[in-house]
Amino acid sequence: MFRQAKKSDSSPAGLWIDIEDIGEDGLVLDFVKDPSFFAIEKKDFKIVKDVVIHCSLSKCDNDIYVTGKVSAALEFACSRCLEIFTEQIDAEFSTEYLPETERPTEEEMEIVEDDFGISYYTEEKIDILPTVMDQILLSVPIKPLCKEECRGLCQRCGQNLNVGKCNCQAEDIDERLAVLNKIKL
Ligand SMILES: [Zn+2]
Ligand SMILES: [Zn+2]
Repeated sequence: MFRQAKKSDSSPAGLWIDIEDIGEDGLVLDFVKDPSFFAIEKKDFKIVKDVVIHCSLSKCDNDIYVTGKVSAALEFACSRCLEIFTEQIDAEFSTEYLPETERPTEEEMEIVEDDFGISYYTEEKIDILPTVMDQILLSVPIKPLCKEECRGLCQRCGQNLNVGKCNCQAEDIDERLAVLNKIKL
């Protein structure tokens, strides 16, 4: 699913962190990845600049805690006026990683109320790419708006009403006035 990143080792593309690198004082790490690193299948937005992932990790026995922030510039088409615009997102996340051996079985799953934010690792390293992808996808609005007060397009003539008025509205008002005048008569 993800395009192979330029990497020195043979790990699949991901944002891998070796658990042994997390010392007693934890580990603070930044990743900077260009947009092509993130193979986005959805086409209703685009990553337009390098994505910066800042994360800090701590370890308690086999439990790994990761908190961090994903900063990215995303490009959307406005759902009202169709203009392309860019928006900066800064999404904070926190995830706990447990060894795969501690993953609850299906029966146990039913009594675990909320395991959102928990991931599992098999080898001596964790991959935070799935978490980062989730953060990016969660930041994408269902109906992107170039600005809150976007006026959109005229439904009749297609004029972008942020740029200027079209004549349709004036005609509408004329028609309504004409109706009112008739009623008055
Ligand atoms: Zn708009
Ligand atoms: Zn119009």
